[in-house]
Amino acid sequence: MNICVVGTGYVGLVTGAVFADLGNEVTCVDNQSEKIEALRAGRMPIYEPGLEEMVLRNVADGRLSFTEDLPRAVRRSDIVFITVGTPPGDNGKADTGAVEAVASTIGQAMERYLVVVNKSTVPVGTGELVREVIERHQSRPIPFDVVSNPEFLREGSAIEDTLRPDRIVIGASRKEVALTLLELYAPLERPMIITDVPSAEMIKYASNAFLATKISFANAIANLCELAGADVTQVIKGMGLDARIGPAFLAAGLGYGGSCFPKDTDSFIHTAATLGYDFAMLRAVVDVNRERAERFVDAIHKTLSPLSGKIIAMLGVAFKPNTDDIREAKSIEVASRLVSLGATVRVYDPAALDNARDVLPRSVIYCDSSYDAADGADALALVTEWNEFKFLNLERVRQLMRRPVIFDGRNLWEPERMRRLGFEYHGIGRRPVLPA
Ligand code: NAD
Repeated sequence: MNICVVGTGYVGLVTGAVFADLGNEVTCVDNQSEKIEALRAGRMPIYEPGLEEMVLRNVADGRLSFTEDLPRAVRRSDIVFITVGTPPGDNGKADTGAVEAVASTIGQAMERYLVVVNKSTVPVGTGELVREVIERHQSRPIPFDVVSNPEFLREGSAIEDTLRPDRIVIGASRKEVALTLLELYAPLERPMIITDVPSAEMIKYASNAFLATKISFANAIANLCELAGADVTQVIKGMGLDARIGPAFLAAGLGYGGSCFPKDTDSFIHTAATLGYDFAMLRAVVDVNRERAERFVDAIHKTLSPLSGKIIAMLGVAFKPNTDDIREAKSIEVASRLVSLGATVRVYDPAALDNARDVLPRSVIYCDSSYDAADGADALALVTEWNEFKFLNLERVRQLMRRPVIFDGRNLWEPERMRRLGFEYHGIGRRPVLPA
């Protein structure tokens, strides 16, 4: 099939590469010329394991190309996927401006029947809005269908998730249109749900809201564990082994960040309010999440007070491991609070330092390695649980530090091991331990 994917971000570029890999002719479109130029030169604008190799292979085989020319790409395609950003707007409402802009160009450019697929995360009702915008911009009536096909990939494992999704959701108003998508996804041999457009749009938000709820629930239990002298990692293990609960996303830490959960929960609360429903439960989830970084910095402050003149090594900037994405990363709030309390912050991240430079406070010092960051530090704060941090030579870290105190924002390390290694160790929702 001839496919156009609009937006070459985490979702669009990965989707385009995978569709090309399945044998389709794919044109990826973006309105940022530097992104298109970089992609044409073989440089990836984002870090995602396995992406570069897949993109380069499909470009070399002539199935994948990049352009800024959306009208031309639309005219060459049977299916157009919209994968542009839907950032937070006013009052938590998702800003669908980019989706609408793309829809208007599609309306102007189309010359024959087209399937327009919305993959961006959009509030329920946006499918209908996209249909209206396209119709309004057509110079003459040309039939088309709007499909909702929400995306569930996770940054860091986006290729794998796109090749082997748990389910593929297709929301369409007609069975025949759903069949086109079914055919496109058939080679993946994954479970598919065919439903109507509003239900598909709702599935995406309901899923993200539920996952966010699991995280905040674990964090609320962590707060209780700290008061009760229990260990949240044990509590959660005991809960997660219950098949009705499951261990995924049930982890205490600094809370959720990133480009999806924070904005999607806010947007869902806003949609609910618009529909006349006060989603109090989800508001509580957001509240629990909001206080995580503050609690973490408070614990550091209490232990090292005053923070003025103290050096804190911060490991991890990305909002989660295996990505360079720092949108809504907890590192931003942690670093800003530490700096405002007078601390010097030395940071290291395996992939996200370049992105961090525009966002973290100016005074932050960027380091080449975890050991460089730990050198002379009064405490080490682990913010992102990259695998390489798990396997650090902690003996060496301790020797480099001025004072061997660790604040583990992701419960990455075992308290007893840290005690034996000579650290004072503070996890989340577990009792602090003093060195042996
Ligand atoms: P992104 O910001 O990484 O990429 C969006 C791209 O769209 C950018 O390259 C931008 O330049 C381009 N763009 C914006 N307006 C455009 C226009 N008018 N014409 C052409 N290109 C335009 O965003 P993302 O992370 O890929 O997310 C895209 C959508 O998918 C969002 O709605 C997001 O909520 C959703 N989503 C994201 C993820 C994720 O993990 N990142 C997962 C599932 C769903």
